[in-house]
Amino acid sequence: QNGSIRGRRQPNILVTGTPGTGKTTTSSSLAEATQFRHICVGDLVKEKNLHDGWDIEFECYLINEDLVCDELEDLMEGGGNIVDYHGCDFFPERWFDRVVVLQTDNSVLYDRLSRRGYTGSKLTNNIECEIFQVLLQEAKESYPEDIVVALKSDTIEDITKNVESLTDWVRSWHPAS
Ligand code: ADP
Ligand code: MN
Repeated sequence: QNGSIRGRRQPNILVTGTPGTGKTTTSSSLAEATQFRHICVGDLVKEKNLHDGWDIEFECYLINEDLVCDELEDLMEGGGNIVDYHGCDFFPERWFDRVVVLQTDNSVLYDRLSRRGYTGSKLTNNIECEIFQVLLQEAKESYPEDIVVALKSDTIEDITKNVESLTDWVRSWHPAS
């Protein structure tokens, strides 16, 4: 059983980070370059009702982590996936060969999230999340340190560079024997 998981022929990549750091933009561009499947977990949760209702305080769906993991298990076993989500501690560790944590300068992120219509505590919570590097911490606690990479995502040039280096990484990846 372990053999079939280790034996996937293409890697899986997790793209995580605070909301607004560019996960979806980066993931869709990377999916285009690699022909990998882009799985935007937030959209999947909505489409397939993998949640336990709307959280009034945090203004988002209360994701049902077990349902999400069940939904993705078969796809992940096949490899070739880019998973895009602002959390990373509930996915099975064995799913991922690379965990990318996108990071954005606070003032740049503030403007992006304001433009997205975030205000009040929703805005400040996310800025604090970025300042305290919550997602980088979570990634380091949840995955082997050598597969976790933090990448700067302040500008469009950063996205281009990140997609290029991740595409190179995919091309040179070989299944473990
Ligand atoms: P996330 O999926 O992490 O919430 P998005 O990819 O939806 O972030 O990006 C949020 C907004 O910020 C979009 O309008 C996007 O164009 C912009 N953006 C994201 N990353 C960058 C970047 N590195 N440089 C410039 N704009 C960016
Ligand atoms: Mn997104």
